Amino acid sequence: MSTQEYFDEGELVAVLTTQPLDRTLDYKAPEGGCFLGAFVEVPLGPRKVLGVVWGPGQGGFDLNKARSVIRVLEVAPMREEMRVFLGKVADYTLTPMPAMLRLATRAPGLGDPPSMRKIYRLGNTEPDRMTDARTRVLEVLRDYGGLAFTLKELAEQAGVTSSVVKGLVKLGAVREEDSPRDLPYPHLDPDLPGKELTEDQAAAVAKLQEGQQSGSYGTTLLKGVTGSGKTEVYLEAVAEALRMGRQALVLLPEIALTAEFLTRVEARFGARPAEWHSGATMTERRRVWQMVGQGDAQLVVGARSALFLPFRNLGLVVVDEEHDTSYKQEDGVQYSARDMAVLRSAICGGRVVLASATPSLESWANAEAGKYDRIDLTSRFGAAILPEMRPIDMRAEQMQPGTWISPSLRQAVRQRIEKGEQSLLFINRRGYAPVTLCRACGEQIACDHCDARMVEHRFLKRLMCHQCGETKPMPEVCPSCGVEGKLAPVGPGIERLAEEAEATFPEANIAMLSSDLFGSARALKAKIEEIAEGEADIIIGTQLVAKGHNFPKLTLVGVIDADLSLHGADLRAAERTFQLMRQVAGRAGRADKPGQALLQTFQPEHPVIRAILSGDEEGFWKAEAAGRQAAGVPPYGRMAGIVLSGPEVGPVFDIGNAMARNDGPLRDIGAQVFGPAPAPIARIRGRHRVRLLVKAPKGAPIQDAIARWIAPLRLKGDIRLTVDIDPQSFY
Ligand code: ADP
Ligand code: ZN
Repeated sequence: MSTQEYFDEGELVAVLTTQPLDRTLDYKAPEGGCFLGAFVEVPLGPRKVLGVVWGPGQGGFDLNKARSVIRVLEVAPMREEMRVFLGKVADYTLTPMPAMLRLATRAPGLGDPPSMRKIYRLGNTEPDRMTDARTRVLEVLRDYGGLAFTLKELAEQAGVTSSVVKGLVKLGAVREEDSPRDLPYPHLDPDLPGKELTEDQAAAVAKLQEGQQSGSYGTTLLKGVTGSGKTEVYLEAVAEALRMGRQALVLLPEIALTAEFLTRVEARFGARPAEWHSGATMTERRRVWQMVGQGDAQLVVGARSALFLPFRNLGLVVVDEEHDTSYKQEDGVQYSARDMAVLRSAICGGRVVLASATPSLESWANAEAGKYDRIDLTSRFGAAILPEMRPIDMRAEQMQPGTWISPSLRQAVRQRIEKGEQSLLFINRRGYAPVTLCRACGEQIACDHCDARMVEHRFLKRLMCHQCGETKPMPEVCPSCGVEGKLAPVGPGIERLAEEAEATFPEANIAMLSSDLFGSARALKAKIEEIAEGEADIIIGTQLVAKGHNFPKLTLVGVIDADLSLHGADLRAAERTFQLMRQVAGRAGRADKPGQALLQTFQPEHPVIRAILSGDEEGFWKAEAAGRQAAGVPPYGRMAGIVLSGPEVGPVFDIGNAMARNDGPLRDIGAQVFGPAPAPIARIRGRHRVRLLVKAPKGAPIQDAIARWIAPLRLKGDIRLTVDIDPQSFY
């Protein structure tokens, strides 16, 4: 492809903007001309909008009417590799290009010139008079060894008012400096000594590095039990990328859990990497975006959207916990960060490492098929061994109504408390109780806007809808029959389990870990660190704890309801249960104490439960793969979910029916359409939802067929249509 790289002043250029238009717009290049890929500000009606020079203008109209680009922004032009990547993601996910550009420019103030701001660091005098507040400020500065803060960050972190900091500046205990707004990230040194690797680990590193040195694209599935040293291994791949002068990106699923990871990066490379996630401040996001683009950030640790940062020379993407469902974005651009990491690396000649103890069936199948390399780390590091896994057959336990901790589990927890070890009680349900039932009329309190029951959250003292987030106070009387005092919680959530644990183990120190119980990611991090240091006898946790954090004193995991996720209609229900149970069990016995995992189940003979208990992973995958192959579903077939939604159910169904009738473009590629049917959650935020499922043979051009299928639709009124290619959840 030969494209013009530079446009002289007055020449017509096509500009892709972030505005929802279905085409690029023509403008005249500004004074001084502009490069292909330049970020520009252009007039659109009365407004100024952000855009990127996408190619030569299309023309075909009176040139005198063309408006000029207002200015070229002072950031590096978008590279060709990125333009190609955005185009391919758009094609793959059937997303309009402006939405792709928005995803690639999610940093505020890109057009602002670099400016100065005040920063604060540790001074060299001690104040004569210390107060608690002053001590906290100085502790924060010491804890972060040499790091500078803005006034707001420092005051927030220390929990003091800004006048306390200002007071310390006057006394010389804190230094105030001027600094450019966007600083390069400190240099990471790949040649600092790393840990001494085991033979297995060293072999894995050698294989990864050999691939990297080839300088071409390749994906490796790095499979290893929790604690086998996957992180140690891929950090050496990061080191190799840095030595080669290339940038690296580590994607993590639950950004709240990166505190420990960042410390490990710092220990390995001598400095902290750039961080990209939704909790980062606007200033921080802007800095990351700028520095990644100018090559002054060697390593980014981030959430899925970090994949759309303007890397100059991306040599490695690590997707840690690659099976994690949070890599799939479910709204807006519906993309899978894992799959798009592979796509981006294929374009820029980089390597991908997919790390997991329990890979997705997709990645397992790609490795089987030889598309990915596979490296296995089979033993845990040091003396740590995999926990012993046993079922607790709930049919044989004497349970009091309204309790969920069986006598067998109770006894196991008691033993740990006596030995000063930690236990984790796992339940994958937030809130107090999933259902609130009126014992007089049978009414279950539901959300007014969604087809979902409200979940009681005692911690927040409210009922909450987990679909739309709507909350309301707990009613005194039943909203349906008006009888007072008959509303009762049914079933357990994490809060109710904690209540039971407190009553059962009054002497124990109990900590609850659920994403909604903490005001900020920072508070959550602090709590996790406290727990890791042994500040709890019993941890009550949701899925949050299943993800990659080390609790060295943890030796028992009790799974309250191992059957819970087996019953989904989701084609991945078995896979998800298998992964989740193994991940949770893997939390136990990481240091030098052997661990045990006890799974409470009503169906110990269920094949999935049996596979979990026996640890026969390859057997489980082979069986699961055979089942999916027979059904022609992913990864052995392709799927897409179409959701139509609108305020009235009738018209939404009418469109769905018309689509099902006019399925010519789908039949052309041998695809089938199922539905329309009410979506599993038939109403969200007052909108009725109707779903069609498209199933196509593997390798069929499903995007193209769907694009042709939906092109003639004219959606009237407030009806919306979304397409989800490779859907991960079916709701
Ligand atoms: P995974 O990512 O597979 O769960 P980690 O890399 O987190 O495993 O390793 C588990 C623990 O063992 C960590 O605390 C890690 O620092 C330690 N560890 C792993 N390999 C080594 C090694 N070769 N030398 C020292 N410590 C190691
Ligand atoms: Zn709702």
